[in-house]
Amino acid sequence: MAASLAKAIEKGGVVGAGGGGFPSHVKAESEADIFIANGAECEPLLAADSELMRLAPDRVVRGVELMRDAVGASRAVLAIKRKNEELMRSALPDGGSIELSVLENVYPAGDEYLLVFDTTGRVVPEGGIPTDVGVVVNNVTTLAQVADAADGRPVTTRMVTVQGAVESPGTFLTPLGTPIRELLALAGWKQDDGGAVIAGGPMMGCLASDLDQPTTKPVGGLLALPGDHVLVTSRTATEEQVLRVARAACCQCMACTELCPRWLLGHDLEPHRTVRAIQYDTIGLDDAHITSAYLCCECGMCELFACPLEIRPRRIMASLKAELVRRGVPNPHSRSDIEASDVREYRQIPTSRLVARLGLSDYDRAAPLSDRRPEPHSVRLLLRQHVGEPAEPVVEEGSRVVEGDLVAEIPEGRLGARVHASITGVVSSVTPDSVIIERRGG
Ligand code: SF4
Ligand code: SF4
Repeated sequence: MAASLAKAIEKGGVVGAGGGGFPSHVKAESEADIFIANGAECEPLLAADSELMRLAPDRVVRGVELMRDAVGASRAVLAIKRKNEELMRSALPDGGSIELSVLENVYPAGDEYLLVFDTTGRVVPEGGIPTDVGVVVNNVTTLAQVADAADGRPVTTRMVTVQGAVESPGTFLTPLGTPIRELLALAGWKQDDGGAVIAGGPMMGCLASDLDQPTTKPVGGLLALPGDHVLVTSRTATEEQVLRVARAACCQCMACTELCPRWLLGHDLEPHRTVRAIQYDTIGLDDAHITSAYLCCECGMCELFACPLEIRPRRIMASLKAELVRRGVPNPHSRSDIEASDVREYRQIPTSRLVARLGLSDYDRAAPLSDRRPEPHSVRLLLRQHVGEPAEPVVEEGSRVVEGDLVAEIPEGRLGARVHASITGVVSSVTPDSVIIERRGG
């Protein structure tokens, strides 16, 4: 059962749709006693998972059942926010074979480590993954795609919410590889206004490099913002600026640590100490407050909510992590005997407070599924939309493809995911990075 589902998922090119992009066939081969479906969608303003659950709850439930059975779990839990409780409760099978866990509307409730703790009371070890404590977690959009893959339908589309400084926010069922400018135009974004676009959620998303950037499997949101918005400037500040401000201004108030979700979970991560450590030129890369960057999930709470002085501990952690990897310094943190902090429950930040703090209240609007469908003239399918090696093209320029045809395969024996045509047409470009398809014929 597990092997055949994993094979179907691998064939269908399913990867973590909640932002992680981890190939889902590998998870289907894991063993666990609890399976959790992650429907928390904790990034503010995004609605892609909620809209999917509203429109196709049965696909999510089928995906849960398939994955629960594949990993051999005796319990399956669907974790959702209260706004989706009624809808999903009515979609669950009779008899309680899938439990419902209703989460508080706090950020980052959907972080896998926090979700595992809130749902099971188990703490994932430092540097570990949920299977270390007998749990497998999948996002609900991923689970709908698992159900599709089991029926032989590969991943070719996904829901994408477009929010922010747009006239008509909405969620769009989008062929993969669609230029983001087409989605922004459908939502009424005025490009003349200038501004910038974050691909993903406001907390963890990345600035879009350009408007021709294509949509990908893990990204469920686009947020258009004025160029001087703090969510933009926090991302455009150079590394030098980030370090200079941190060295000059940090008052060691500890607010970043006191609200750090991983510290509150008991992990040995104290961003205020890391910010202090980088004040000293003599600090070694093996210092515990430097290597603790490995424990950071880059949720952004420290810099976008906690710090009163525009210091960017998350940016510092991300840079340190990259440097540690580049220098081949292994993660020395692996404690598993961990207890969550007693004060954790009082330090949860309601999403509404976060939205206000981020200056997003004006953009906190409904974004239901739009009946306007993106119909791109061409799509650019990135060959690395996932964790692992880029997929290898199996088509050539001039090849005719039909939506759902395989265009790139996982390299032999490597971790990766397949890529399929998201529209019917002709392949106009093949490079090691992408395959472009132009819409021609039907
Ligand atoms: S919250 Fe800001 S000022 Fe306070 S310790 Fe952290 S980085 Fe320093
Ligand atoms: S981004 Fe900041 S708050 Fe989030 S885990 Fe990392 S250090 Fe903690």
